[in-house]
Amino acid sequence: MEINFENLTRLQDLDELIQDILQFLDSIPSQLGFIDEQIAESTQIVADAKKELSVNQKKRRNLESEVSAKKALIDKYRKQQINVKTNKEYTSLLKEIEDVDSEIGELEEEIISEMLSADDLETAIKTAEKKAEETKNNLLKEKEEIGEKKDHQESEKEMLRGEREKLIPTIPSDQMALYSNIFHKCHGTALSPVTDDFCSMCQIRIRPQVLNELIAQKEIILCENCGRILYWQPKE
Ligand SMILES: [Zn+2]
Repeated sequence: MEINFENLTRLQDLDELIQDILQFLDSIPSQLGFIDEQIAESTQIVADAKKELSVNQKKRRNLESEVSAKKALIDKYRKQQINVKTNKEYTSLLKEIEDVDSEIGELEEEIISEMLSADDLETAIKTAEKKAEETKNNLLKEKEEIGEKKDHQESEKEMLRGEREKLIPTIPSDQMALYSNIFHKCHGTALSPVTDDFCSMCQIRIRPQVLNELIAQKEIILCENCGRILYWQPKE
């Protein structure tokens, strides 16, 4: 009796399609997890920039209150100057005032530099916020697409399994058992077409006698090298 390779190859095709779908379904949790990580990362960049700005603002407030304190000190020295009795005391206070004044100058320079940094940080925050928003929108869309594909693939899988159920009774049980065995051993590919004179899965050359037997399709022949079921597939 001639072996019906059409049913066997259809079974192989169905199993490959089902395997691909299962692989996709398995990958969904990690795909979604990766998307969530990316969203969290872009939100974190905004949070970090905002934190940096608040540190900058706090530093500026401290510098400003230092300036106020030093200005108050100068006022105090000026009032003391009015009441001093000697020239020496007056000069000494004048020196104090000059010193504090130059300290104020340094602090004010620092304040200006902090203000410039604040401008940069505000720009950075706006840029990061815009980018985070875009990233989030894109990724949420991606999530939605994954969800849609999942639904589609799940119903596709059911359809393919249904076809498989109907196909199995048309394949002799010994062939089915052999197929399943090789399918599991050979990582999901039990069949290998022979078009010229080599096994298309492992590329080993097929002996002319075996080739003739393959063309006759009277019995199941396994590849001597990879162990898969060989079948003759003439060139189109
Ligand atoms: Zn082979």
